[in-house]
Amino acid sequence: MINEIIKGISKLTSSSQDLTPDITLLKFTIVNACLVGDKNGWVLVDTGLENSSDFIVDASLRRFGKDNPPKAIILTHGHFDHVGSAIQLAELWDVPVYAHQLEIPYITGKRDYPLADPDADEGLVAKISPSFPHRAINLGYRAVTLPEDGSIPGMKGWRWIHTPGHTEGHVCFYRDPDRTLIAGDAFTTVKQESLLSVLSQNEHIKGPPAYFTTDWDTAGKSIGKIRELKPSLAIPSHGMPMQSEKLARHLDMLFLHFEGISVPEHSRSSNTFFNDSPPR
Ligand SMILES: [Zn+2]
Ligand SMILES: [Zn+2]
Repeated sequence: MINEIIKGISKLTSSSQDLTPDITLLKFTIVNACLVGDKNGWVLVDTGLENSSDFIVDASLRRFGKDNPPKAIILTHGHFDHVGSAIQLAELWDVPVYAHQLEIPYITGKRDYPLADPDADEGLVAKISPSFPHRAINLGYRAVTLPEDGSIPGMKGWRWIHTPGHTEGHVCFYRDPDRTLIAGDAFTTVKQESLLSVLSQNEHIKGPPAYFTTDWDTAGKSIGKIRELKPSLAIPSHGMPMQSEKLARHLDMLFLHFEGISVPEHSRSSNTFFNDSPPR
């Protein structure tokens, strides 16, 4: 029931925003996706929820015109709010779906994610998260491993960066010349565990959505990796994009106080003898 409400809200509030000449953010409130490229070639990064496909198709028609399907669908990882429309759209456009090698079992029906953890946070989204789909989807032969050399098919000038922790095969996408980062769920700019925060999109830098994150130590290291890139624009899957000085400041804070800001109390390291909370 609550899942149906969330899907309904997501559909009713769908909107798009051109962030750069070649990146359009598709906002489904609960989650984002991106169109990347131009009329000569584009890809879809992540696919929203299972009822997001109509909006994605309409947005791509407006942006790239008729008879111009994408070269590929590229996934940050395989959680339900990122692969919701993947099967439908891959079939419609007849395109491959790329993901990190470690994520392939979760999109080819071989391995399910663990059930979400309702104790990860007091927020309503965390509390209802065990009802979120966690079983593998099956894209069959359309699921393809991202090239080992870091390149991304259909995204010239970009490279993928392995940022595990939220899931084993989570990746971000980075473009060096303008330091643009598509962050996936490596970190968020909204408190995704709280429905009120999600609905208001109240800005709040945080680690990956807590209820689905499996390895906090690794997730913290991935923030360090991202911080070293010094991105000038970050586009997370949950929350609004963040840029420039503000982004740098927030990434510093998130990295230095990762445990206090992001890690659920029951998953914090027991030997921490100081209170690692964010500065006020
Ligand atoms: Zn996720
Ligand atoms: Zn997500």
